[in-house]
Amino acid sequence: MSLPQPRLCMAFLLASLFASPAMAASEAPLQRADVIIANARVYTVNAEQAWAEAIAVRGDKILAVGGKAEISAYSGNGTRVIDAGGRLVLPGFTDCHMHFIDGSLSLTQVNLDDARTVAEIQQRVKDYAAAHPDLPWVEGRGWMYTAFSSSLPDKKYLDQIIPDRPVYLEGFDGHTWWANSKALQLAGITGATVDPAGGFFVRDPKTGEPDGVVKEDAADDVMRRAIPRPGKEQVLAALRRGLVEANRVGLVRAISADGVHVQGGDFEILDVYDELRRAGQLSVRFDVAMRIQPPALTREEMLRIENARERYHDDWVAAGKAKFFLDGVIETHTAAMLAPYTDDPSLSGNLLWDPDKYKQAVAELDAHGIQVFSHAIGDRAIRLALDAYEKAQTTNHTTDRRHRIEHIEDAAASDLSRFGKLGVIASFQPLHAYPDANDSKLWAGHVGPERAQRGWAWRSVKKSGGILAFGSDWPIVTQNPWAGVQTAVTRQTVEGEPEGGWLPNERLSVAEAIRGYTIDAAFAGHREQAEGSLEAGKLADLIVLSQDLFKIEPSEIGKTEVLLTMVGGRVVYESAAWSAARRKETK
Ligand SMILES: [Zn+2]
Repeated sequence: MSLPQPRLCMAFLLASLFASPAMAASEAPLQRADVIIANARVYTVNAEQAWAEAIAVRGDKILAVGGKAEISAYSGNGTRVIDAGGRLVLPGFTDCHMHFIDGSLSLTQVNLDDARTVAEIQQRVKDYAAAHPDLPWVEGRGWMYTAFSSSLPDKKYLDQIIPDRPVYLEGFDGHTWWANSKALQLAGITGATVDPAGGFFVRDPKTGEPDGVVKEDAADDVMRRAIPRPGKEQVLAALRRGLVEANRVGLVRAISADGVHVQGGDFEILDVYDELRRAGQLSVRFDVAMRIQPPALTREEMLRIENARERYHDDWVAAGKAKFFLDGVIETHTAAMLAPYTDDPSLSGNLLWDPDKYKQAVAELDAHGIQVFSHAIGDRAIRLALDAYEKAQTTNHTTDRRHRIEHIEDAAASDLSRFGKLGVIASFQPLHAYPDANDSKLWAGHVGPERAQRGWAWRSVKKSGGILAFGSDWPIVTQNPWAGVQTAVTRQTVEGEPEGGWLPNERLSVAEAIRGYTIDAAFAGHREQAEGSLEAGKLADLIVLSQDLFKIEPSEIGKTEVLLTMVGGRVVYESAAWSAARRKETK
């Protein structure tokens, strides 16, 4: 730090010209570390040096990774030493598929995760509404189809508890919403309302009156307009909560798949992220995709993406990716399947895009160097995405675009090997495959026993050379990745069901699951040169964990706690227990 710049450069040049092992050992390193993580069990995710004992950090980058003696040589007067107490240290985790502003706002709304019955939902909504009398709308999320005897809610359950204030609740999967009568009234939805493209209002078969269930795009296009948009202060406050939560669970980068829930999602608030960055308050790195709307890619959309890419392309805030929704979800028979649903042969789901228009859009984005994400859950939608990526590659003679498919719940057998062949990134969210008896029974019943054999087939994709990019889909499920790692490894519920795991051949090892959140996640974002493993020269993004994932029972992985999170050389989170222990040591 005190060395004048020219001398430093010259010294560095000489050192690299004449470096020999003997010299490296006898002479002090040229650069001093700002921080040293010592006494650690470092799993680097770097194949050339899988394990180490310590890490030297300078500025926002890693100076060196190695043994105790080697790294302590980087220590100088101003070096802060963090004693990891022998704990496991990993690269910070990337969540490859989140809806960050939606999730952050949901932290401020009524949470219906784990509400198993209608009565339980009613109680929580009632309590929340009473505790927040000033909110014009009561919003929340997380209810499950299995709470209702008919698999779908009804406005009457909400009218019973809150008749005079609008209530609007999103289902756990982000594809179905639930409104009370007041909310429908404020949005102007009546029996005469025409369903919008890509969505609909479920109606009473006799009267034609909407029953409060809002499907797919009807939620965004019609209902959302009636709800006052959150102001900037509300957005900032929500994001700050979201950032704290992300760092608390060990996340250092979020790849935002953009908004299903809040119109425009993270792409619309890139300037807010940038403002947080400039104020030094951003503690998660962001890559943000923009959603392309059917029926076709427009010139305006292309311009918006390219302008965003030009403006935002650094380590902290980056845009210039495109997201498509090709279908819905299997639970509601809206995922596009090659053959009819087993439990209702009149349905096979629908593609939300005309295949030719979609392929054309993909080819055009590909030609402009824009990475494409396609939400594709059913085998028909997955095949269309693979076809489109293949066609773009051959037409444009492009390579290494790393286009992605999101979710991949049920691919056709012959398509699983195409991920590796075409270099398509498989963006899975392990917790979506959580084999809860209710959910997986519903899912498996819809696709039938033959197709259920290929549910979330991450091992099959990986075996054929495909790259797995793991994430949560927060707020669809928790952003805490440790439950995801456990599910990727066990394919069991926390109670250990089913025995041996659901489709046990698709299980991953702990190391493979970690890759999906680190180096392979970095690869999926074209960032493997700078992130995803702990190596000299890469960004100093790391986490210290409460337990050693390699030594515990797989069924314990979900209980992992993050003790410390460092992003760009800065400690952005320390658990209360950890910092209390540190304080005691320094006394
Ligand atoms: Zn999503």
